[in-house]
Amino acid sequence: MVYWNEIARVGLMTVLLILGLPSGGRVSAANDRTAILIKKVEGIPEDFIKGVDISSVIALENSGVVFYNTNGEAQDIFQTLKEHGVNYIRVRVWNDPYDESGNPYGGGNNDVQTAIIIGKRAAEQGMKVCVNFHYSDFWADPSKQMVPKAWAGMDLDEKACALYEFTKDALSAMIAAGVDIGIVQIGNETTTGMCGERAWVNIAKLMSAGSRAVREVGREFGKEIMIAIHFTNPERGLAEYHRFGTLLESYKVDYDIFATSYYPYWHGTLANLTTVLKHIALNFGKKVMVAETAYAYTYEDGDGFGNTISKRSALAFPYPVSVQGQADAVRDCIQAVVDVGEAGIGVFYWEPAWIPVPGNSYNQRFELWQRYGSGWATSYAASYDPEDAGKYYGGSSWDNQALFDFSGNPLPSLGVFKDVDTGTNSDEN
Ligand code: CA
Repeated sequence: MVYWNEIARVGLMTVLLILGLPSGGRVSAANDRTAILIKKVEGIPEDFIKGVDISSVIALENSGVVFYNTNGEAQDIFQTLKEHGVNYIRVRVWNDPYDESGNPYGGGNNDVQTAIIIGKRAAEQGMKVCVNFHYSDFWADPSKQMVPKAWAGMDLDEKACALYEFTKDALSAMIAAGVDIGIVQIGNETTTGMCGERAWVNIAKLMSAGSRAVREVGREFGKEIMIAIHFTNPERGLAEYHRFGTLLESYKVDYDIFATSYYPYWHGTLANLTTVLKHIALNFGKKVMVAETAYAYTYEDGDGFGNTISKRSALAFPYPVSVQGQADAVRDCIQAVVDVGEAGIGVFYWEPAWIPVPGNSYNQRFELWQRYGSGWATSYAASYDPEDAGKYYGGSSWDNQALFDFSGNPLPSLGVFKDVDTGTNSDEN
């Protein structure tokens, strides 16, 4: 008995090791798609945008990250995404994410050239691209909207002109390289400003300059490109988003899509999201979409750099933190946008591939983040953003919200993009 118990214990340990530790492409029960259930999204249109933003992917691959398919074979992640029902790729663009000596700021070092590489790989898989201009040299969000270094001394007219030229040049280069651009975002999470401006009269002027560039490029290349403006915090309610809609209308900003971020642990209920987006669609005649969403499947941290969402987060988690909970969060978000009606065109998942870079120690990974920009920020970003990146630079704060495990295997939750069309039923599997 003692002997048998020992064997059983060792056997159990082996199973736990296989399930619980990075498996380097091995297929484990944790990657079995039939392991979770996904309810059909009622009324989902065939052309609904099922997008992901994998802007960090080139820096990750440069750092030695390998992505696998469901058979445990190394495979182009764009192909794997396509096979799982993803039909759109979103990519952020920073003007110049490098310091004076050419050292990268990190976060994927997403300049125009990187966007072209990502966009071409998307096109090879028949996927369209949403180009997300931050109009900054690094992260732009409600906490910061810093002007690019090269535009810092400009007055508003000069800045509008530079923004127009930059947008036109970047989009023309992307299209010429074969990128299939379907949407262009003028600014990222422009809730509090854009490109160093905080007054709406100024923001609107810059947005209009970007918008004009998109329309001209569309005409020149004979492409129908939709223009999106992106806000955050639907949980603040209807009045807040109505205010943004009114501002854009009164300043005559030419756009097609009113986009929002929706993170379930920050941004209120899905019922509220549907209500707010429906209101925008009805009152301003715009299409609506979720430009960013995500959810955690584990509290574990894969790279030694603390995660945005952890057990310590003082947040309400509307779903269990599990692969099933993650899949439900995405599925329900898609349903909430579909429930808006015809105006609800899509959902993008934010950074589902931002997994740990290889390394046996924090220092080994740190070296890769610094060299390839595969962490959220390098120490070099301090010269541009001393208060945030300059203090907290490091790795991925998002690895527990990826749709791939820490070793690059697709999680069953990645199947949500395909499975929402029909639903899965464990009895039939
Ligand atoms: Ca991490």
